[in-house]
Amino acid sequence: MTDALREYYEFILSVPDESRDAITNKIMEMGSPGFFERDGNIIAYFDYLTDITELCDELNRFRDVLKSSGLDSAFSFDYSLIPGKDWNESWKKSFSPIDIGNKLTIVPSWIKPDTDRIPVIIDPGMVFGTGHHETTRRCLALIEKYSRNKGGQDFLDLGTGTGILAIGAARLGFGRVIGVDIDQSAVAASMDNISLNGLKNVTIVKGSISDITGVFDVIAANLLSETLIPIARDIVSRLKPEGIAILSGMLTGQEDDVIRAMEDAGLTMKENAVDGKWVTLIFSLPPSSAQSACRCRGTC
Ligand code: SAM
Repeated sequence: MTDALREYYEFILSVPDESRDAITNKIMEMGSPGFFERDGNIIAYFDYLTDITELCDELNRFRDVLKSSGLDSAFSFDYSLIPGKDWNESWKKSFSPIDIGNKLTIVPSWIKPDTDRIPVIIDPGMVFGTGHHETTRRCLALIEKYSRNKGGQDFLDLGTGTGILAIGAARLGFGRVIGVDIDQSAVAASMDNISLNGLKNVTIVKGSISDITGVFDVIAANLLSETLIPIARDIVSRLKPEGIAILSGMLTGQEDDVIRAMEDAGLTMKENAVDGKWVTLIFSLPPSSAQSACRCRGTC
């Protein structure tokens, strides 16, 4: 069945402002491939194969988590089963071109690019990464900041989703670009988006960081804190001595655990950025460990 013919569950969640980000984070964690805001509500989609009873139970149980975090737990939700065609139409309306950093504009594939900036064409389908989320925007702006525009830098996009960070990096001049994702639909969507952008230097791998070889000048990982923490040492092992790791996707309050895990693994925090309730952390290897972490035998 194609996406246009499949049915999807559409959830409409009425949420208090102070819990909005925590609930958005929960929806992502529960595997919603697409969500956006309309009239103050969160509209979230789930595949028709989702166990709907379990999904509702999990959302109801989340009220206790909000309460124990001292957040307002008074949210409500309703859902209906809708045709994929309607999902696509709602989604398309919520997705307009967006300028990010000084150079890039993210353009939905159904809109003709009309910009002097560098276009990154994205068809999100049912996958995360339209450029409208704070974490994606921050990652792209930082990738631009750390790009040297020489074509020789290697870039790893860990949890590529639509491929937006990998494609953005390639557009900004990175030479060898790899995107990796555990989710087959993200792998398919990112490969389609790479073709839409006519790029030849971007490779997509299905899996996680342990499936990647080589070392990189910049690694961007827009993942949840509980995903980032166990792979801290893998991230270090994939960084070049002067490399930069851009880690996003955590909520304020979760960053200390990520900082501790990364520092234990040998990284030093360079800077951080907060966008609403989302935090992005930038790490490098300290100069002394940079020497010992270098496995290039003088070639880098
Ligand atoms: N990079 C895109 C962005 O910044 O908009 C998408 C980020 S989305 C929040 C996270 C993606 O990471 C999802 O596509 C998910 O399937 C993938 N993912 C989750 N855990 C992963 C892991 N351990 N290794 C690789 N990918 C992972």
